Amino acid sequence: MTVEIDADFPGGNIIVDRMDGDEVWLRQDRSNSDNWWFYWCCRVGGAAGRTLTLHFIDGNVLTELGPSISRDFVHWEWADAEFEPEGDGVRATVPIPEDADAVFLSHSFPYVQSHLDAFLAKHADHPHLHLSTLTTSEASRPVEKLHLLDLQASSPRKIMLSARRHACECVANYELEGFLEAALEPANKMLQKAEILVVPFVDKDGVEQGDQGKYRIPHDHNRDYTESPRYAATRAIIDELDGWADDRFLVCLDLHCPWVRGGRNETVYLCQPPPEAQPPFERFRHILADVNDSPLPYHPDNVLEFGVDWNTGEAPTFRKWVGDHTPARLVTTIEFPYSLANGARVTPDRARAFGRSLAQATFEWMESR
Ligand SMILES: [Zn+2]
Repeated sequence: MTVEIDADFPGGNIIVDRMDGDEVWLRQDRSNSDNWWFYWCCRVGGAAGRTLTLHFIDGNVLTELGPSISRDFVHWEWADAEFEPEGDGVRATVPIPEDADAVFLSHSFPYVQSHLDAFLAKHADHPHLHLSTLTTSEASRPVEKLHLLDLQASSPRKIMLSARRHACECVANYELEGFLEAALEPANKMLQKAEILVVPFVDKDGVEQGDQGKYRIPHDHNRDYTESPRYAATRAIIDELDGWADDRFLVCLDLHCPWVRGGRNETVYLCQPPPEAQPPFERFRHILADVNDSPLPYHPDNVLEFGVDWNTGEAPTFRKWVGDHTPARLVTTIEFPYSLANGARVTPDRARAFGRSLAQATFEWMESR
């Protein structure tokens, strides 16, 4: 049987250069980014019971845990693969289960429309979860807006959450699910205290098309908060906040994932805002470290300080726009790692558990102001 590899499904991204039996030479498609990046996700058919050798020829696209695998695109785990750098790339040897007609392989845990739909279906009857369309993307896809709002709550505070300004940063959505699960759980009484506005896929086209999104040409969705934004989602978010972001708007968390591996990229870390916004942020990172009871550690020193690396406050990012144009007090970017958090393995469920702790920390921060 011939091995078949394709990316013809939502979130798919692969270019196969050459195949020879169980050996494949392949690379990530980064054609619409102007910098190297590492997202890939493919389907492998006709390889049941065989061991494939994948030669990734365009840089080391693997995390420290190697590739991930799924039979159904829903349940993902780290593949039991051996891997090592090879030439300008990396080679992975991946055993394909005997009873798997097709499997999906990726660099972490993909999360696309179908995952969001499953999450929403699970909560379809929730009286306080309201789904609508924020806007329509450049490729005519709906960009979802979720509003978690208890109409009986008296003067709730306001929280905004967003993800996927960089399309490839899929693990952030598992963290987001956890936050929303905590907020939707009646016993937590969170929606009596705050309403939550959520844009789960800012770069919706990139998510579904399997784009890198990061460094999108001519600029990506987190460099679009300019005088004349290029993307419909940016314009719609600005319009939305124009009406919604009043004095009750306290917290804005933009969820991202960092570089593929190494150093702080293998921690959950927060990006310190500019000096004038630091006191609330400093309090928050300690609260988060205290309340986090998930299997993924957060240490209060896991912070990218203002002025370091790219965190200079100069680029027209969403965080900067919210900080400059709204009354929100706690405005930060959270970088959630793809594979390891201070040595603990990231999994979708663990990312959700961290998201629940993040929700708890956010509410504790609001109440202890
Ligand atoms: Zn990002």
